[in-house]
Amino acid sequence: MQESTYDLIIIGGGPSGLTAAIYSSRAMLKTLVVAGNPAGGQLVITSDVENFPGFPGGIMGPELIENMRKQAERFGTSFKDANVHSIQGTAEEGFELNLDSGEKVNAKTIVIATGASARWIGLESETRLRGKGVSACATCDGFFFKDKVVAVVGAGDAAMEESTFLTKFASKVYILVRRSEDKVKASKIMFQRAKDNPKIEFVFNTEVKEVLGEHSVEGLSVINNVTGEERKMEDVKGLFVAIGHEPNTSFLQGFIDLDAKGYIVVNSNTKTSKEGVFAAGDVADHHYRQAITASGVGCMAALDAVRFLADRGVSVKSDAY
Ligand code: NDP
Repeated sequence: MQESTYDLIIIGGGPSGLTAAIYSSRAMLKTLVVAGNPAGGQLVITSDVENFPGFPGGIMGPELIENMRKQAERFGTSFKDANVHSIQGTAEEGFELNLDSGEKVNAKTIVIATGASARWIGLESETRLRGKGVSACATCDGFFFKDKVVAVVGAGDAAMEESTFLTKFASKVYILVRRSEDKVKASKIMFQRAKDNPKIEFVFNTEVKEVLGEHSVEGLSVINNVTGEERKMEDVKGLFVAIGHEPNTSFLQGFIDLDAKGYIVVNSNTKTSKEGVFAAGDVADHHYRQAITASGVGCMAALDAVRFLADRGVSVKSDAY
């Protein structure tokens, strides 16, 4: 293997990847995080994180990520704000990662922590008006809708959180739910908080058929999927889509095993189907999907990589956790 080879390359700069980096660099592994571009994962497009232990008053997502990154840097982790395009190799011969910048980097082990990205409804008008009133990130774009009426599609915790956040700016927020009230997926506390907000109005059994407008959102065409009634919501000037996420694994096709939904298959602990390659966070977890669980599994993945290398004679500081 080349001299410039890293002991561990972590792909992904969210809570999972950064926690892995803290543990790996504290174990004295030569560690690189290929953090993505833009770096930081879903937390950098989140506002208040209220459920990460240690912050009784909550912490802003970007600040939490910045702190984790500084902590990893303090122990010697290197960073590249780039995306991985493809990976070749094995633990025996070493791995080569091709970055979208054209650069190649080499590693003895890999932790994949690339997370998941926002899912879209799939309407042509939604794609055309993305960035022109259609968004999947209330914290990025909510500010542009001061005193305007907006709609949020979705019924999970993200839809509740985004809607509550949007009421800081918007005069009114509709939450469009495709199912009935008793089938809302969000946790009870977040659903109740949204219901209690006087600026939020729920519209159940309703789907968006089209986003109206040429160059900006000028309304929605919606359908009630029980009665079949179609109507226009012409007061809506912004649409926020909060309907879940897809794992960021397209660059891994053929390299390791993925399940039917594209999530990385992990067997015991954080091991993937390829020796020396470990996975952590939302990229391998469609169930818990929390910053704290991603961080916890990031720690596990780093420890698994440390042990894998120690078993192969690489010097690690095994008591440094
Ligand atoms: P979820 O998968 O939990 O929810 C997605 C929602 O979108 C579902 O209600 C689903 O409806 C709806 N949906 C899917 N496709 C469509 C469509 N085409 N049209 C209309 N609606 C659609 O995703 P989230 O992103 O909300 O949450 C993911 C995870 O992150 C969860 O575990 C959640 O608890 C967590 N989270 C936690 C937060 C916090 O604690 N602060 C904040 C945000 C997320 P249906 O039910 O009909 O399938």
